[in-house]
Amino acid sequence: MVTSHSRIVTYSPAYTIVPTYECFNRCTYCNFRTAPGESPWMTLSAAENILLQLQSQKVCEILILSGEVHPQSTQRQNWFQLIYDLCELALKMGFLPHTNAGILSFAEMQKLKSVNVSMGLMLEQLTPTLLNTVHRHAPSKLPEIRLEQLAWAGELQIPFTTGLLLGIGETEDDGWETLNAISDLHQRYHHIQEVILQPHSPGNQQTFDAEAFDPHQLPEVIAKARQILPPDIAIQIPPNLVEDDGWLLACIEAGAGDLGGISPKDEVNPDYPHIQEQALRKILQPGGWELVARLPIYPQFDSWLTGDLKMAVEHWRTQMI
Ligand code: SF4
Repeated sequence: MVTSHSRIVTYSPAYTIVPTYECFNRCTYCNFRTAPGESPWMTLSAAENILLQLQSQKVCEILILSGEVHPQSTQRQNWFQLIYDLCELALKMGFLPHTNAGILSFAEMQKLKSVNVSMGLMLEQLTPTLLNTVHRHAPSKLPEIRLEQLAWAGELQIPFTTGLLLGIGETEDDGWETLNAISDLHQRYHHIQEVILQPHSPGNQQTFDAEAFDPHQLPEVIAKARQILPPDIAIQIPPNLVEDDGWLLACIEAGAGDLGGISPKDEVNPDYPHIQEQALRKILQPGGWELVARLPIYPQFDSWLTGDLKMAVEHWRTQMI
């Protein structure tokens, strides 16, 4: 996080595990999904092999990122159990899990809380006009359902990451309204740790025919977001989607204090490889910014954890001093 005393930018050394790419939604900007039944699910033994290799690397966060199985599907229970088991496995093997699996029931969220140090769901944009365009075939993208998820995370005391997708057909005012809604929820529950501002960046798979969100507009958006959001919420930008080094620095000067999970592959934007740690350090250096690793849970939320999660985080905190 950026403070007045330091020029520090944080990132999370992460690896993304995808239980399944299948998703019953069809967001037209998606570069991730496959149709239900069209791709094999991750197995626990395959995940274990991946995690074993990661143990000798500097990876802390395991992001469990999944497409969604319909709540009424006969496969829903298997899907949920796989996500739970993957989190449990990652935790047992010494990593800190963070799950983003789309819309969950209250009971599902409650269960996942016991094996995740934090969780996430992009609010994207609240305007209902998108239900007639990019979200026409995406029942999970009903704004009120997503807001409810954020409220449930607050009730359950789950440290939470959310964010906006910029440039998918919203107006500027729509964006401010979405940020204000996040701010309001945070003031009620004090559970939002970071807000991602993700510029729409066209990929090979999507059918949504629109330009990329102009990264040159980002510093202005970040500055306004910084005014709207409470100061204890970090603003995160994905550096691989801001290709111009100078503008990445401008985004940081404007108030973006976090670069998110840096892993070998950006699963959401596979056409935009992550910039790795050393290269990021080089970009930040002319601005006098220091890149510092962080955990997927911000320190102010440590007291919300119990049992194995608490012990795992305490261990990692000593590693990262
Ligand atoms: S963006 Fe997410 S919810 Fe939409 S189709 Fe892709 S995976 Fe599914």
